[in-house]
Amino acid sequence: TLPVVAIIGRPNVGKSTLFNRLVGKRLALVDDQPGVTRDRREGDAQLLGLEFRIIDTAGYEDEDAATLPGRMRAQTEAAVRDADVALFLVDARAGLTPLDEEIARWLRASETPVVLVANKAEGRAGEAGIIEAMALGMGEPIALSAEHGEGTADLFEALLPHV
Ligand code: GDP
Ligand code: MG
Repeated sequence: TLPVVAIIGRPNVGKSTLFNRLVGKRLALVDDQPGVTRDRREGDAQLLGLEFRIIDTAGYEDEDAATLPGRMRAQTEAAVRDADVALFLVDARAGLTPLDEEIARWLRASETPVVLVANKAEGRAGEAGIIEAMALGMGEPIALSAEHGEGTADLFEALLPHV
């Protein structure tokens, strides 16, 4: 069986963009069960010859602000529990938010190894956010652009010990 990589992060950081890039045309299985699995997509990913199962956590499209953190937490923890490594995405352009810091706390409490990724890092606009992400205390982030396909080799190197 393939190793499992879970993509974690608050809404809009680029999780699904990264998922789509890594899975490509290979069919993503969408689970239509209620609850946490409803928001979860899985696919077989390829990254420079590495093969792994990848989990994209949630849309939260019609989520109301009061219930979002609880549902996100349940889903994040369920995905991370089953994973060999968690890819924790933050948005290098938007900078850190309180929700990023909260997710970092959940991840620190789990035993699953975490690879911190500063996405949307293409160009100058991402530079401050890459440095800011170091404040999460999870080491130097991988600077990635899921949309433009930059940082792939660094992501490969960071995942290699875990998959
Ligand atoms: P998710 O909610 O975390 O799944 O985020 P999405 O994958 O839906 O992306 C949210 C928005 O960020 C979309 O408009 C994407 O096009 C954009 N986005 C994703 N990756 C990048 C990136 O590397 N650079 C930039 N500039 N935008 C990105
Ligand atoms: Mg998404």
